[in-house]
Amino acid sequence: MMADLHFAVIGAGGLGCPALLGLVAGGARSISVVDPDRVEASNLHRQVLYDLGDVGAPKAEAAAMRLRARGVSAHAIVARVEPADVAAFLAELPAGAIIVECSDHVALKFAVNDALMASRRRGVIGSALGWRGHAIALAPGGACYRCVFETPPPPELVPTCAQAGVLGPAVGAIGWLQAQLACALGHDATAEHVGRLYEIDALGARARTLGGRRRGDCPTCGFRKDPDARPSGARQLVS
Ligand SMILES: [Zn+2]
Repeated sequence: MMADLHFAVIGAGGLGCPALLGLVAGGARSISVVDPDRVEASNLHRQVLYDLGDVGAPKAEAAAMRLRARGVSAHAIVARVEPADVAAFLAELPAGAIIVECSDHVALKFAVNDALMASRRRGVIGSALGWRGHAIALAPGGACYRCVFETPPPPELVPTCAQAGVLGPAVGAIGWLQAQLACALGHDATAEHVGRLYEIDALGARARTLGGRRRGDCPTCGFRKDPDARPSGARQLVS
């Protein structure tokens, strides 16, 4: 089953490297890797697919090479997917492809959510910062990222990994969780995990799930079509 599916992983950094290894561990045999950047020595500790010999190489190509060495049919796409390009990017992928969003670009996560829901595709979105992170599996008919977080926070309120730091094992745990959720989507896209946000806080010793139910007033998947209705019940992504 997993061997018949195509996975497209957007971002081959701290989340993408463990997600890619997790997909391979789960039996994926056809993977596209999308990343515009090159491997940097300063990130090697948490970008676990690469070593010093890869420094300076495009991440997508270095990652695809490592996947091929594990028997995977891997396709490198050295490109930056901007939020405005997501719908066109998804349209180029094979029907039924499962998208795994592993970038560090908050607006892109919301754009991927909207495009997945509009195109009725399946995917997983993940995010990690500091000691915390979350991941959510999306499929047609299920709750979406905006059912939990309505909109991206203003950029000035979003600390970057460079500002806030990110703990390698925390980002690794979320990337691995994204792979697990992508495998679960491939297995059953109607099961309990769909539309449910998994949140892990290592310092707070907390792991929990949120949401799971579509909000009628969700701006993306809401079924109440009153244009004046203001979404309610959504959380702040950064508080
Ligand atoms: Zn929604």
